[in-house]
Amino acid sequence: MPEAEPAERAEPAERAEPPPQPHIQPRPSLFVVHITPELAPVAKVGGLADVVFGLGRELEIRGNHVEIILPKYDCMRYDHIWGLQRIFDDLWVPWYGGAIHCSVYFGFVHGRKCFFIEPHSQDNFFNRGAVYGFHDDIFRFAFFSRAAMEFLWKSGKHPDIIHCHDWQTALVPVYLYEIYQPMGMRHPRVCFTIHNFKHQGVTGAQVLHATGLNRPDYYFHYDRLRDNHNPHAINLMKGGIVYANFVTTVSPRYAMEAKDQGQGFGLEPTLHIHHMKYGGVVNGIDYDVWNPEIDPHIPVHFGVETIEGKYADKKALRDRLLLADNEKPIVSFVGRLDPQKGIELIRHALFYTLGQGGQFVLLGSSPDGAINGYFWGLKRQFNDNPDCHLEIGYNEELAHLVYAGSDIMVVPSRFEPCGLTQLIAMRYGTIPVVREVGGLADTVIDKDFSHRPLNERNGYVFRDYDERGLESALGRAIACYYQYPDHFRELMKNAMRYDYSWNHPGQDYMNIYDYIRDK
Ligand code: ADP
Repeated sequence: MPEAEPAERAEPAERAEPPPQPHIQPRPSLFVVHITPELAPVAKVGGLADVVFGLGRELEIRGNHVEIILPKYDCMRYDHIWGLQRIFDDLWVPWYGGAIHCSVYFGFVHGRKCFFIEPHSQDNFFNRGAVYGFHDDIFRFAFFSRAAMEFLWKSGKHPDIIHCHDWQTALVPVYLYEIYQPMGMRHPRVCFTIHNFKHQGVTGAQVLHATGLNRPDYYFHYDRLRDNHNPHAINLMKGGIVYANFVTTVSPRYAMEAKDQGQGFGLEPTLHIHHMKYGGVVNGIDYDVWNPEIDPHIPVHFGVETIEGKYADKKALRDRLLLADNEKPIVSFVGRLDPQKGIELIRHALFYTLGQGGQFVLLGSSPDGAINGYFWGLKRQFNDNPDCHLEIGYNEELAHLVYAGSDIMVVPSRFEPCGLTQLIAMRYGTIPVVREVGGLADTVIDKDFSHRPLNERNGYVFRDYDERGLESALGRAIACYYQYPDHFRELMKNAMRYDYSWNHPGQDYMNIYDYIRDK
């Protein structure tokens, strides 16, 4: 039974005892297991990897026991795994009526406790040199999800919460409630986080057969896994939504856009049916990694009170990229060169910035050869321009210097579930210029057009996905930089003062975990 409220327990004031302290209920710690295809920095493709690491760390700081299960990819950054050792060598995971033999490894990734699953089969699921991009991706991750559940079951782990991520691990709650709970695994509850509705894992019936979900008629039902549009396909993400105890996506705005504004890529009706267990939590960023006061990748550290240090980093960025040293603002873009990120507007930002007397830096890459080729062409075109540098590739360490050394960062996404780049930029006093969608709309407040107090405004926002839209915001940012440097500096400080750490989202997830545990 919960104890009585503090007010009811207050002693009479005349008693010579210390005044009653606000009563903080000691919260029982939870055992949380993340099942994930990505984890920063060992297996990172996008923001999902950062989220699992950052949230895992925050949950541990709050006294919970956190374990993370992921595939043992050949292409992992093994230099970031400490004490890797095989701890389980007899895991047989049901597959196509037989079973695949797996080993499980344990190691620490910057303090996080991680289990890596390694299947021994000719499918060679995770020794492909890349995390994604294969014809059998759906089978690779359907297998991994089953293997993770089988590992929990065989090793006798009964977490309070299983937290799974995106379509790759969406079958986890299906397995739990259809296979493992009937076997006796009654304790865990599942939180399913959708980082992007675009990729849902839509596939044929075969995967049911492979994974041991053996009643096709049952699973093909509209209320379960049947795709909302293709009656002959099943949709793994839909299964995750139907079966999980709670479904989150990575910002409240995106949660609304996905359910009500056509951004759910066909899952809108499913979200409506399950709206009572659906919500958005804005991601945090890891302040151990993204902190201009201690960042080992930037030559000069700075904070709100020592913001001058940023200009030394700007100089260092120019030196590194062979840009001219002048009075111009540096406008940058960091991210995947994906249509989602607004390729046309990224390109336009480059031309517009140069036309407005700025410098432009791009750090990005795409798995799509045509998009990469396009940006290589632009790079050649601007090869001799001292105000422009395009770095085509993935470079974590250079990213830190770009965040620190830039004045303005553009994020002109078509859609953006949360977006981390604008959060990191603001942490480094770099002013975001963003389109008003998803998490960008939730986190960036326009300097000139907002009802919020002046000291809460932290960037520039535009609405329409077109060149004029971008110019309306980027033009104001560059003009402010040149004409009102004091205002620009205040804006930088506002941005830096926000708390984008995992503190608030960590609390939100704890509340969700408590909520589903109590049900
Ligand atoms: P998404 O998950 O859609 O890729 P996010 O903005 O949520 O986008 O997260 C992107 C993360 O990946 C950020 O931490 C960003 O710094 C990093 N990143 C993206 N592209 C690159 C790159 N080419 N080099 C270094 N870091 C990158």
